[in-house]
Amino acid sequence: DAGRVWPDPDSGLTAEYAGRMEATRLARDQARAAAAAPAATRDGRRVLVVANIGSPAEARAAVGAGAEGVGLFRTEFLFLNRRTPPDEAEQVAAYRTAAETLEGRPLIIRTLDVGGDKPLAYLDPAAEANPFLGRRGIRVCLDQPAFFKTQLRAMVQAAADFPVKIMFPMIATLAEWRTAHEILKQAQAEVERRIGRLPRKIGAGIMVEVPAAALRALRFAAEVDFFSIGTNDLTQYTLAAERGNPHVARLADAFDPAVLKLIQMIVEVAHAHGKTVGVCGELAGDPLAVPLLVGLGVDELSMTASAIPEAKQTIRSLDYAAARRLAARAMNMDTPEDVRGCIRQQT
Ligand code: PEP
Ligand code: MG
Repeated sequence: DAGRVWPDPDSGLTAEYAGRMEATRLARDQARAAAAAPAATRDGRRVLVVANIGSPAEARAAVGAGAEGVGLFRTEFLFLNRRTPPDEAEQVAAYRTAAETLEGRPLIIRTLDVGGDKPLAYLDPAAEANPFLGRRGIRVCLDQPAFFKTQLRAMVQAAADFPVKIMFPMIATLAEWRTAHEILKQAQAEVERRIGRLPRKIGAGIMVEVPAAALRALRFAAEVDFFSIGTNDLTQYTLAAERGNPHVARLADAFDPAVLKLIQMIVEVAHAHGKTVGVCGELAGDPLAVPLLVGLGVDELSMTASAIPEAKQTIRSLDYAAARRLAARAMNMDTPEDVRGCIRQQT
């Protein structure tokens, strides 16, 4: 787990690690056996543990791993590797299939998040010098409102029968959120005219991936239904270190106190407005980060399905009051390594 290698280990070391492996295996078996049960801290704070999925088929594995729902359904799979976009019916089928598989559990579907490392030729053929700072995520969709509205109508149709919420990626400004939300309302009205039945309200939220949105969380909190923090992008934009670039991988560390500070701010203002906060970046599924995020008050952790059983066990082992103290201490460390060290020491 630490990424270290011992060449030619002696028998003592080999035996020690055999013992550790056995202990790990036992803990994993126990976690799997308890995976379907909800997770709360010892002093009763419930934390929702949900899955990130990238296709309807993954919803089944998520439920099998103990997911209480889906916190991030990436919809790019429908759009990539083809010459023309999927039509509305194809999208409706995909969203409904995922929702059906979840058997009543909540599903958060994210609108298309291409650009950056996921260019889409039929939408945006122009190359850019800095694609991660260019037309990405919500920017691409807002540039093509008719295309965007088709996806939103498809999501709204799934929301007619299932507990579906909708979220927008890469929101940087209030204006972007308001425009996206306005198009969603238009899509809702159009679907309502067509099928005549819709839930009174379809939850709509934003991903916080751009520091500008985190800094203005207070204003967003008055308008959005929920926040979901995308720590992969929030980290790259906070540290100005591209997420896929190995030369700056040490900088792009989600345990950096600057990133933690932003998460803390978002949770504080969201809760003051009665709004929930999820984390759906890779940080959420890192066993070392779970005590920290719980201690910061995050309501929902969304992760790759295979990480769910262990994350739930970690939550069950925590005391919320102690996790809060831990988070307060970790936040004030100087470096990401110190943050990790602090967590290791205290848990
Ligand atoms: C994130 O940025 O943390 C995130 C969950 O979105 P993606 O990894 O799809 O960019
Ligand atoms: Mg992202």
